[in-house]
Amino acid sequence: MKIDEITEEKILNIFKDIDENLMKIAEEKFNKSNFNASNINELKNFAGKGIIKIGLCKNERCINEVENYVSVLGIEEERKECIVCGNEGKITYVGKTY
Ligand SMILES: [Zn+2]
Repeated sequence: MKIDEITEEKILNIFKDIDENLMKIAEEKFNKSNFNASNINELKNFAGKGIIKIGLCKNERCINEVENYVSVLGIEEERKECIVCGNEGKITYVGKTY
């Protein structure tokens, strides 16, 4: 590409390409270090390896049990069975924080 062939549109396309590549890399990295745990044993296994998606209810006992191994990073509104007691909980992302 010659200098005078560089148009605003081409520049925007280059940025779009970079963005998409970055997104792909970020997504791959995220998927590789993103786990699903359906019970405490699985949670123990994945702890320290990445972000783990679990179901967790509001019961303090359940939260404490999970926090023995990981910290709560975020909670979604979507419902998911609590991995500790089996009652209704919410999708919760957890992971080890250092
Ligand atoms: Zn629970």
